[in-house]
Amino acid sequence: MASSEDARRVLILGGTGEARELAKEVVGAGISVISSLAGRVQRPKLPVGEARIGGFGGIEGLADYLRGQEISAVVDATHPFAATITRNAVAACTATSTPLLRLRRPPWEPGPDDRWHRVPDMASAAEYVGAQGGRILLTTGRQDVGVFAGITDAWFLIRVVDKPTASLPPHAEILSARGPYRYDDESALMRHHRITTLVTKNSGGALTRDKLDAARDLGVEVVVVERPSEPAGVHRVHDVAAALAWVHRLR
Ligand code: NAP
Repeated sequence: MASSEDARRVLILGGTGEARELAKEVVGAGISVISSLAGRVQRPKLPVGEARIGGFGGIEGLADYLRGQEISAVVDATHPFAATITRNAVAACTATSTPLLRLRRPPWEPGPDDRWHRVPDMASAAEYVGAQGGRILLTTGRQDVGVFAGITDAWFLIRVVDKPTASLPPHAEILSARGPYRYDDESALMRHHRITTLVTKNSGGALTRDKLDAARDLGVEVVVVERPSEPAGVHRVHDVAAALAWVHRLR
């Protein structure tokens, strides 16, 4: 337990299960923490402890926030595809000499029986799906739906937390749902809709990985969008325990 004189004040850039887990652990250790959420979903899962919601206003805004709130360290626990905030955190922490840790879960890797088609970005995924056609389960999130809007020769089941505002492909059904998703349900969903292709980001983590196992067992092809690159030179860990150990070492 930290003493009441503990001056550490940690900002967790969140929006992930790992960020919530870390917030709980850091609060439990008696260390002051603020979790930050972008405000993308209507009813976000809130972390334990103090939270703020909304953008900071770019690198400058984040740097001002770090100074104003006397933040002593930042843990960037955002999703592996949240590339802008990750870049901004590096720049703002460099500008303010604030220690920064990147907590990023490991990517998924295919097993011998998986049928994966790996692509570098969402546009390549759309190009591939457009060329192949079929019945597509699209699980890439609301913000990326628009990239698939021009595809006329495929049918889409689009699974999202909140309804997309972008235009949809002409043959599409929206499924509003929020994980975690279990193997049996994923398998039943793919069978019911006669899905031929699953499209996913390589998010990693346990909460949404059952769809990959279900796809493998049903012989469904998986189009896997690989992660964007991140700035070099940042201290990086892959799990909450390692991030917590880093926070404990801060002085
Ligand atoms: P992004 O493209 O990297 O960031 C765009 C802008 O959103 C940032 O410049 C920042 O605005 C604001 N922002 C992002 N994350 C923030 C945070 N945690 N706290 C405060 N402001 C934040 O981000 P994104 O991909 O839209 O992701 C937004 C949030 O959703 C993140 O918290 C991420 O962890 C979570 N999430 C993303 C995905 C995904 O697939 N991208 C999936 C699951 C969860 P300002 O420049 O104004 O500061």
